[in-house]
Amino acid sequence: MSLLTFENKKIAVIGAARSGIAVSFFLASKGNQVLLSDMKTPEGAPDLEQKLMAAGISWEWNGHTDRVFGSEALVISPGVPGNVPVIVSAQEKGIPVVSEIEVGFTYFPAPVIAITGTNGKTTTTYLTGHLLASAGKNPLIAGNTGTAFTGTSETWPVITHGVLETSSFQLDHISRFHPSVSMILNITPDHLDRYKTFNHYARSKFRITENQTEKDIFIYNADDEIITPYLNEVKAQKWPFSVKKPLHFGAWLEDDQLVLQMNGKKEVILDRKELAIPGIHNVANALAAVLAAKSQGLSNDQIAVGLSSFTGVEHRIEFVRELNGVRYYNDSKATNVDSLKVALTAFDQPIILIAGGREHGNTYKDVGDLLKKQVRLVIAIGETAEKIQRDMHPYVKVLPGSLDFAYAVNLARNEAKPGEVVLLSPACKSFDMFRDYEDRGRQFKHLVNGLQS
Ligand code: ADP
Repeated sequence: MSLLTFENKKIAVIGAARSGIAVSFFLASKGNQVLLSDMKTPEGAPDLEQKLMAAGISWEWNGHTDRVFGSEALVISPGVPGNVPVIVSAQEKGIPVVSEIEVGFTYFPAPVIAITGTNGKTTTTYLTGHLLASAGKNPLIAGNTGTAFTGTSETWPVITHGVLETSSFQLDHISRFHPSVSMILNITPDHLDRYKTFNHYARSKFRITENQTEKDIFIYNADDEIITPYLNEVKAQKWPFSVKKPLHFGAWLEDDQLVLQMNGKKEVILDRKELAIPGIHNVANALAAVLAAKSQGLSNDQIAVGLSSFTGVEHRIEFVRELNGVRYYNDSKATNVDSLKVALTAFDQPIILIAGGREHGNTYKDVGDLLKKQVRLVIAIGETAEKIQRDMHPYVKVLPGSLDFAYAVNLARNEAKPGEVVLLSPACKSFDMFRDYEDRGRQFKHLVNGLQS
């Protein structure tokens, strides 16, 4: 159950994080009496309280009171599990519980492309936005990434498309949310702490299609066996993609080319090596984005131009530049060993790895096999440099890069041979040498862009 409009009502927002705060201001601007309620005191509470007061929004911290149940609807943040007592009680009392994207969607003036999946959502959302923008459209990129959907409403009058990264937690509380184009990239076990079974989790992803009709489009991964059994419940037109096999209709990878067949005729969009984002998983993301772009009428040439100029999401295996046949990548967001493993598997070329920073309790020994296989040289930086040297040297040559980041980047440049990759994927936090991981990534890009051939 949901409301047709969110205007001049009493509404409680549960969870004062990014999207909860954004939707509170949005609802207040629509004349609602808003109560923002959180189990804890949010970060930056004094500043927030001033702004809430100025907008006429009430708040309560450190627990939800019965005031919540005096509302006509609850809007919940994706961070709040659907089975917490306040939500269960509201539902028992017949109060509609919706997510922030439901509220935003009610007022959003442009078609929505909604993207979900266990992995690759952010990349595919930004890539789809980039394809549209490079073809002269004015897309909004929002949702589970960057800016909350309702926090962007000032830009909506000039927006041509909404590209929304949508998590299963947001989909759990939709009612009329109805994307013109929906997308499921993959479904693998995740968040099982918040879902009773894997089937519940998969079903929650498929809710992205539940209000779609035959006029709408559903883009999906034809290689994912978890997705297939649910397909016959989808009313929208089904547009598949595959990195493993040719299709009669859809987009796929064939002989290292991204190809498309929409009207019985196979068309080549782009050679795989023109993609700057590495790894086969990114080919899948690119194929999904190609279909989304096609659904909005972009030409193959426009799509090819957009694909080849997409450098990735900032700090996540982001392509920086090619110099003397060496490709440089910034993966500063990799602040733990698991992220390092992912980055190492993304490349076919030998890697010169810059790693290290602040960490307590990391062990690098279980990356040994991957290091042996993928990495030719490690340049160890920051507080963990010595530990990295100790743990990694049985598998790969390690050079100390000291606490001087410019020295480490120069060393990488001097050591790298044409056809190799220089990758900053620290597996550690940044606070020993930098303000945060973004500062580390930007300094890396600045240094790399300053290297002379
Ligand atoms: P999300 O927003 O879903 O977390 P991201 O685009 O931020 O996804 O990618 C997160 C990580 O997931 C990447 O570093 C990569 O290792 C992995 N990944 C990205 N795309 C895919 C994909 N299509 N299939 C499997 N893994 C992927």
